[in-house]
Amino acid sequence: MPMPTMPIALGDITIHPIVEQEGAFFDVMGFFPELSKEVFDENRFWLQPDFVTATGGLNLCIQSFVIKTPHHNILVDACVGNHKPRPTRPFWNMLNSDRFEKELAAVGLTVNDIDYVMCTHLHTDHVGWNTKLENGRWVPTFPTARYIMSDRELAHWTQREKDNPSSVPWITDSVLPIVEAKRAQIVKSDFTFNERIQFIPTPGHTIDHFSVLVGKAGSDCLITGDMIHSPLQGRYPQYGMMSDYDSRQAEKTRHQVFDRFCESATVMCATHFPSPSTGRVRRWGDGYKFVPLRG
Ligand SMILES: [Zn+2]
Repeated sequence: MPMPTMPIALGDITIHPIVEQEGAFFDVMGFFPELSKEVFDENRFWLQPDFVTATGGLNLCIQSFVIKTPHHNILVDACVGNHKPRPTRPFWNMLNSDRFEKELAAVGLTVNDIDYVMCTHLHTDHVGWNTKLENGRWVPTFPTARYIMSDRELAHWTQREKDNPSSVPWITDSVLPIVEAKRAQIVKSDFTFNERIQFIPTPGHTIDHFSVLVGKAGSDCLITGDMIHSPLQGRYPQYGMMSDYDSRQAEKTRHQVFDRFCESATVMCATHFPSPSTGRVRRWGDGYKFVPLRG
């Protein structure tokens, strides 16, 4: 097992977390609308204090992952970003933080070094750093990068923006400017980037969400994106989260993906789990548990 747990080394590829924020932004009962107080109380003994606070706050990490290969630096997801009006989310509204760029610098990179940005889905806390404000305009943050997005995901959100722009401000300021700048590479959600990097369709949380499988069988890692938000949804794959497009499809996705990987050495990089966000998935009754990596 790797020690320390991060970065993850898979031959000549390494995967590094780039954290923007960590905290208990949401109440666990509101975040998982189908969760009962009774089931929550039964599970507090293992959820607290790492995953849930004593007062019922859900501990979440907002982060990207950088995949460094001998040929490319690839950013998977792009957090919340700076200077973005998010009036319904006070903790993300008009963020002005240098943490994201400092964490990039800590792995030896600047925004100029990113060759690709892979967008697992187009939610506000995954696309923010796609763009930055320059002379009053939103321009690509990563000046030479191509931004890879799913065709159906982009079509869905583009239509939502057309119908009611004020309901999806992050599409207006962090997605459409990438398309207008001709930096978007539109693909299917089962896209093969190369022989070591493959998209796995994981729909449900959004209409055409994908996860990113890196490495070779026996030495690989799945960057989950938002197919799961908390280990509670491993134990109970049926629990949808409040912003799901289709929670029943998301449930099916969790079963399919975790069944595939629960006997394997595959490391999960679970994007929203508290740091270090990594573990292997194993069976737990009708669900699955996450076993953290240890040195
Ligand atoms: Zn999401």
